[in-house]
Formats: sequence, structure tokens, C-alpha cells
Amino acid sequence: MVRVHVVTRERLNSGAIATLRDRIFGDLILPDDPRYDTARRVVNVTVDRYPALIVRAADAYDVIQGIEFAREHDLPLAVRSGGHSASGLSTTDGGGVVDLSRMNAIDIDPERATAQVQPGATSADLAGHAQPYGLALSTGDSATVGLGGLTLGGGIGWFVRAHGLTIDNLRAVEVATADGRLLTASADEHADLFWALRGGGGNFGIATRFEFQLRPVGTVLGGVLILPASREVIEGYLAYAPQADEGLTTIADLMRVPPLPFVPEEQHGELAFVVMVCFVGPADEGQRALEPLRALATPIAEMVAPLPYPEMFAFTEAGTVPHGGSIRAGFADTLPPDAIDAILDAMENQTSPLGIVQLRGLGGALARVPADATAFAHRDRALFVAIVNVWMDPAEDAAMHRAWVTNLWDAVWPAASGTYVNFLDDDGEERIHDAYPDATFRRLADVKRRYDPDNLFRLNQNIPPMP
Ligand SMILES: Cc1cc2nc3c(=O)[nH]c(=O)nc-3n(C[C@H](O)[C@H](O)[C@H](O)COP(=O)(O)OP(=O)(O)OC[C@H]3O[C@@H](n4cnc5c(N)ncnc54)[C@H](O)[C@@H]3O)c2cc1C
Repeated sequence: MVRVHVVTRERLNSGAIATLRDRIFGDLILPDDPRYDTARRVVNVTVDRYPALIVRAADAYDVIQGIEFAREHDLPLAVRSGGHSASGLSTTDGGGVVDLSRMNAIDIDPERATAQVQPGATSADLAGHAQPYGLALSTGDSATVGLGGLTLGGGIGWFVRAHGLTIDNLRAVEVATADGRLLTASADEHADLFWALRGGGGNFGIATRFEFQLRPVGTVLGGVLILPASREVIEGYLAYAPQADEGLTTIADLMRVPPLPFVPEEQHGELAFVVMVCFVGPADEGQRALEPLRALATPIAEMVAPLPYPEMFAFTEAGTVPHGGSIRAGFADTLPPDAIDAILDAMENQTSPLGIVQLRGLGGALARVPADATAFAHRDRALFVAIVNVWMDPAEDAAMHRAWVTNLWDAVWPAASGTYVNFLDDDGEERIHDAYPDATFRRLADVKRRYDPDNLFRLNQNIPPMP
């Protein structure tokens, strides 16, 4: 705490702070504010940073004030929507934070099936607002993830195979830029910026509003199928998931079985292959699409039924509790037997019972968008693979938990390539580059040069401006 006061006194005089406070409609939260300790924290409980100030913006005007203040006082600037950044990039030591969590309004136009959404809204907020109209957007798998960070990285969600990425359903973005302008980027306006915002992350400005095209999704066939954890089952899943009926998106977690009511008690805590399923379309077609999955092995337990789409988030609720985390992820076309064996072996030798290896079958609508249409370009890959360690107590040995992830990743990486910017941790510059093919990275650096030449927005998976 002392550290912050020093930074604040040295770099910011009280007159400048008072002027900022007068200018904004939202809240300016300083280290002596009783709300500060909660406001500085993010979902990853191992991230313990002390910003000099937090602008909890009420609107786009406040966002611009935050940007201008950071620029004028040469303050590192973090941007926060839902706070789920794995490496805690949405907070900072000694700098400023523009916190968009209050900017969470959602306005649905049922006639046009569109939604105007502020970045602090979450996946569950949008799903809940759109549900009464029988509409939905494919966002992530977890309720609390912010649409700000999720959308700008791409958004691999519950119906990515049926309706593409979140950005494939994005019509326009309102953005506050480094020079304090408020622009609308779409296919018709600032098309270069619109391209970059669809996968380039928070590099180009602060998104203050999104316009999404919603899809007619009310009820889905959704649930969980728990299969035995074996090399044969995993191989079967890898072949099946990217080729399944396009209405079906699956997310498979190799994990310890949680104590769910529909799972026999003796299975609780055992290693299993837990496949979450979400089918968009008639339930009987969905059941047929699931038959090959059920045929891989006798399920240990199953709970699949027609349900309102927002209920899908119940299956990932445990992961949304603030926690310590470490992740490595990438794309693959398949996994060879030795990588699968390494995964099974690591899962038998976990440092935390909450660690998982996640496999997602891709393809479908995601793959039909040309690779150069958006900054997210890994569209032809069959699979997404993520190794995730999770622990609840920040006092636990984080280095040990992280080593479990990186050691296993070293064994899996030869089968994978590329990565997804939203699943990057503190992987380093080279891995940020891996998130984009070379030509995409160069084009992003060029757009960065035009919209943020001084790299004001650098507390992110950073793409430096092209010189
Ligand atoms: C439990 C969990 C489940 C997840 N599941 C999925 C999933 O199913 N699919 C998927 O695609 N991803 C998933 N993710 C990854 C998630 O999409 C990213 O972590 C995303 O960046 C989080 O967004 P946020 O707004 O919550 O995070 P924040 O920490 O607030 O933001 C992350 C970064 O995004 C940038 N940013 C955020 N908002 C803005 C804005 N308005 N303008 C400019 N830049 C901004 C900033 O650079 C910031 O550092 C998951 C993450 C977690 C922790």
C-alpha cells in the first residue's frame, strides 16, 4: 500500500487528480478509497497489483478521460472488462486502470436480432437478456467472462461450430482510441481497425460498445456425458468432435469428476473424460449427433436434455470462482498416442486436483470464414487444446502448479501449433507471435502504427506498432 502512495505523490499532483475526478461521471478510486482493495483485484487470485488510480467508467466519455489522463501523465494503462485475463493484464502496479465493469448495458432489437452491448457485460448477462426473444450469441463457455476481452480476442463459445466465433457475429465496435477520439469500426467505416479488433485483442483502443448479430437460439440440447479416461476414448473424441454434425459443439475436459448429483458417488474425484455438449437444432437430431460419442465407451454418467441456452453456464460455474491459474494452449489437427499418454500420465500426477486438459473440436461455421477476413486466423485447425492448472489458495506453490502445465505442454506442443490470444498467460513475445500467422501479425502491427503509434495500449498481449 505504501508503494502506491509514493507513486501517486511523485507522478500525479493532487490538482490533476481533482480535475480528473471532476471530469468523469463514474468513480475515481484511489488507494485510500475503501473500495480500492476490491477494485484492484482480478479473477486470478495470484495477481496482487496496486494501481495508482482506477477510473470506473460510467460511459465512453469517462473512458476517453482515462485515456487522456494516462497519456498526459505517462501512466501505464490497463483496461478491464470482466477481469479474467489469465496473467492479470487488466490491472497494473503504479499505473492507471480503466475499469469497464459498470458499463454493462445491453439493448436487444428483436426485429433485427441485434444487440448493442457494453464491454462490461458478461456472457451470462447477454444470454439472459436475449433469451426471452429466443435469441443468443455464441460467446465463451463461462458466465462471468467479460464480453470486452472475450470478443476482442475472438470468442470460442458454445455454438462456435454452428454459428462461428463471437467476432463472426460482430457488426460494429465503438472504440476510444489513443488520441482520444471515439470511432465506430465496421465493414464500412475504419474497416482496417474493424479487421484488427476481431482477434487482435486490446491493442487498438478501448471498445466501449459492440453491435452483435444474434442467432435464433432459445433451447439447446445440452449437458454432460462422462466417459472413462483412456487413450482409446480420447482418440475417438479427437476423430469425432471436429466431424460431428455442425449443430453440435463439444468441450471435453480430462479432469477429476466433481461431486455432481447425477454421478455415482464412487466416481467422485476419479479421473474421467467429461464431455460438455451443446446442440443447436431439433433435440432428436442432437441425440442422433451424440450417438457416436456414446458409442466410444459406456458412459459413467450422463445428463443431457433440452434446456434454455443460459443454463449451459451451470456446467462451467466452478471455473468462475476467483482462483490461481496457469495455462498453455494451442491448435492441433490431432494428437499422437505419445502426447495422449503424456496427458494421461500427467493427470495421474497432478499438483492440484483441479487441473484439467481441455480439448475442443472445431470446424463447422468457424472454418468457413476466410482466414484473412479477421485477425483471428487459425480457422482450419480441427482442435483446440488447453492445459490448465487451477488452485484456490493464493498461498499455494504457484511455481509448482505452473511447472506442471509447462512440462506437460512441452510434451504436447510438438503436435500443436499456433495459439489463441485469449488463452495466453505470461507466455512471452514469441507466443504472442504464434497467435497470428506472419502476414496477419505484420498487418496488425501496421494497424497498430496507425491507431496507437506510441503503444499506449501495451498492457495486453502486445503487438508493437510497425516502425
Ligand atoms: C474461467 C474462464 C473461462 C474462459 N472460457 C473461454 C471460452 O470459453 N472461450 C473463449 O474464447 N475464451 C475463454 N476464456 C478466455 C477469455 O476470453 C479471456 O480471458 C478474456 O480476455 C477475458 O475477458 P475479460 O473482459 O473478462 O478480461 P479482462 O481481464 O478484463 O481483459 C483481458 C484483456 O482484454 C483487453 N480488454 C478487455 N476489455 C477491453 C475493452 N473493452 N477494450 C479494449 N481492450 C479490452 C485488455 O487487454 C485486457 O488486459 C476464459 C477465461 C476464463 C478465466
